[in-house]
Amino acid sequence: GAERTKNVLILMSDTGGGHRASAEAIRDAFRIEFGDEYRIIVKDVWKEYTGWPLNDMERSYKFMVKHVQLWKVAFHSTSPKWIHSCYLAAIAAYYAKEVEAGLMEYKPDIIISVHPLMQHIPLWVLKWQGLQKKVVFVTVITDLNTCHPTWFHPGVNRCYCPSNEVAKRALYDGLEDSQIRVFGLPIRPSFARAVLSKDDLREELEMDPNLPAVLLMGGGEGMGPVKKTAKALGESLYDKDQDKPIGQLIIICGRNKTLASTLESEKWKIPVKVRGFETQMEKWMGACDCIITKAGPGTIAEALIRGLPIVLNDYIPGQEKGNVPYVVDNGAGVFTRSPKETARIVAEWFSTKTEELKRMSENALKLAQPEAVFDIVKDIHDLACQRGPLANIPYVLTSSFTSLI
Ligand code: UDP
Repeated sequence: GAERTKNVLILMSDTGGGHRASAEAIRDAFRIEFGDEYRIIVKDVWKEYTGWPLNDMERSYKFMVKHVQLWKVAFHSTSPKWIHSCYLAAIAAYYAKEVEAGLMEYKPDIIISVHPLMQHIPLWVLKWQGLQKKVVFVTVITDLNTCHPTWFHPGVNRCYCPSNEVAKRALYDGLEDSQIRVFGLPIRPSFARAVLSKDDLREELEMDPNLPAVLLMGGGEGMGPVKKTAKALGESLYDKDQDKPIGQLIIICGRNKTLASTLESEKWKIPVKVRGFETQMEKWMGACDCIITKAGPGTIAEALIRGLPIVLNDYIPGQEKGNVPYVVDNGAGVFTRSPKETARIVAEWFSTKTEELKRMSENALKLAQPEAVFDIVKDIHDLACQRGPLANIPYVLTSSFTSLI
């Protein structure tokens, strides 16, 4: 058509695997639904344009989640509104100019934030630029339940909440009903749209065609008690009396290279595959019968779509805690921190408790929201259309900008 391509800027940060996965899911869904109508730019803006601590968020995050107590303190001590708004005001004054330069470069018509710390500064910049009414700004929350209050900013056009629990928190924190939509967590379209046969996948992935399979992972960083659990499964999935395995094990270590190399050098009595960071998670999940993971929202939502019963074996304090009852209370899985217990549960699912496995799989499918990402991009498209044909947005560099704050 005669209308020019609109620019969509997705702001993310590579903390864990979840924010990137959500950003890419939204990008892919835009392409599938609207083709060339939109140009999508996924940016870790902080990393590229700002100094410490924001460009170091990824490293600080990895450091903190490794030192769980520290993360707990950081999460809760930054929760009261007055603390985080002072903190953010200080950061904003320091970095806003550079963020502005980032926005100038991409001239977005639509800004989508998939990160809890990426509403305030971009919205301030838009305000000072007088562009609040011209640029569509939306937040896509990627925590299923107990999310951090910095996600909620009253200045957004939309706040997409993955669950009713999060929507309640948004209302409580001052957002209007009209700003909130609940579609589910955005998952890569390859999960929602692909029709995959388990037999074909097992052949492609060179797995045993018949043995039930358990997938063991720990988010993008390969966190949680993966090693101990793998060893326990190596025992529990081996039938000593009959001298043969009753299951096979797939371990996806993500970016945790140390973990991968340690596990590769182990001797196993059952079929085991150790993998690093995988780009086709939908295939591995489609080839398996259940999953063991920390309570990462991305992994949980993906497993639900594939109908995998879930053993949750860990969670990051704060934002992941609420994901546990979300899974357990809905009958889609169990929670235990003990590797031995985990190994026992999976062995039972593969032998005496196959009915339970089947029931949990059905419950998982009931919770799944594979269309969420498409509902989100269609709603954003509608918002953009309501603005009428967008003229080139007049981004202007305001040189004295930082002195305004
Ligand atoms: N993931 C992946 N390849 C891997 C490991 C993880 O693509 O080897 C993806 C996984 O499918 C999920 C995301 O990374 O989409 C992990 O997100 P989650 O919210 O579960 O945990 P996080 O890593 O963000 O703490």
